[in-house]
Amino acid sequence: MNRRGPVLLIALLLLTALLASFLYGRRSREYTSDQFLMDTLISIKVYGSDPENLRMAVNAAYTEMHRIAELADSFPHPGTAAFAGSDVCRINQQAGIAPVPVNPDTLAMLQLAKKYCELSGGAFDVTIGPLMDLWGFGKIPHIPPPEEIRAALALVGNQDLLLDEIKQTAFLRRRGMKLDLGAIAKGYATEKALQSLKKSGIRKALIDAGGNIRVLGRNPHNSPWRIGIKDPRKSDGIVAILSLEDAAAVTSGDYYRFFEVDGKRYHHILDPRTGYPAVENMAVTAISSDAGIADVLSTVFFVLPAETALKTAAGLGEKVFIVTADHRILYSPSLAANIELLPGTAYRYEQGR
Ligand code: AMP
Ligand code: MG
Repeated sequence: MNRRGPVLLIALLLLTALLASFLYGRRSREYTSDQFLMDTLISIKVYGSDPENLRMAVNAAYTEMHRIAELADSFPHPGTAAFAGSDVCRINQQAGIAPVPVNPDTLAMLQLAKKYCELSGGAFDVTIGPLMDLWGFGKIPHIPPPEEIRAALALVGNQDLLLDEIKQTAFLRRRGMKLDLGAIAKGYATEKALQSLKKSGIRKALIDAGGNIRVLGRNPHNSPWRIGIKDPRKSDGIVAILSLEDAAAVTSGDYYRFFEVDGKRYHHILDPRTGYPAVENMAVTAISSDAGIADVLSTVFFVLPAETALKTAAGLGEKVFIVTADHRILYSPSLAANIELLPGTAYRYEQGR
């Protein structure tokens, strides 16, 4: 009898076991970590073969997010390092007094804000702080008297935010002016976190920062990520599914922070031209390759009439999906191949031009 047969069989089995354990070790794993930051539950999901690398990459991404959050924080926190003054706190404290040296990322956020404020004709304004404070969102929201709205509006004005790129300073020209980076900081921080993941060698990731979605690459099944666009009037309803690859989708809606008086909704996205909550839309999703830009644009487009928003988006080469206050759904024609509209919703679908 050939005695080499069983030996060969055992060797083959061993080799198969070794190969299987090697492949198992290299198979793509998922690592998810959640943190509460910037008033939002943030979730970062990454994929790769080395669990330790995934964990370290996510930690580094969160460090980056915390850093941006601290720069943009408008509330002084007694007893903490931020009490000494975030960049935004210091700019606000020095309003009408002196320009303030700031971090390059603060300057980049303010430049982004200024650019889109000009482009939106004043529908977006990062100096909206005094008006936001007056309405009291986040504290005790209420409808302010018209004369107080007029007084707060007098302190809103992007033209009085002066940025000096050479000296790396920011200055609010008049006393009482106040920055509010609520419409931009989360998206900017999300983009920074994603770029940090990329630097750590991650190729597939999804960051969900409460309505701000940024994906890296394709999903683990190697197809585009599928993102549900919420029905603004049904907490568990979805009006469409968006296919997204290497891009950001950020939603501004009148359902995140609001109160009602006599059946009328008052929400946290204000129109700096009237002093009251913007009335054109219920929810607007901006899609861009950069989460910071998508965040600014979601707020810009939210305040503008849908037709103006669509035209502006087309001019910028960006994309937008809009649910209007009068129950219409419009979206950029360039999104058509990436949108699956769901039946049975309470809206009229009209494709934008
Ligand atoms: P978002 O959810 O990104 O649309 O941001 C809403 C936040 O942006 C608000 O909570 C305010 O902090 C700020 N904000 C509200 N209205 C405006 C506006 N017209 N322009 C710029 N920022 C705004
Ligand atoms: Mg925004």
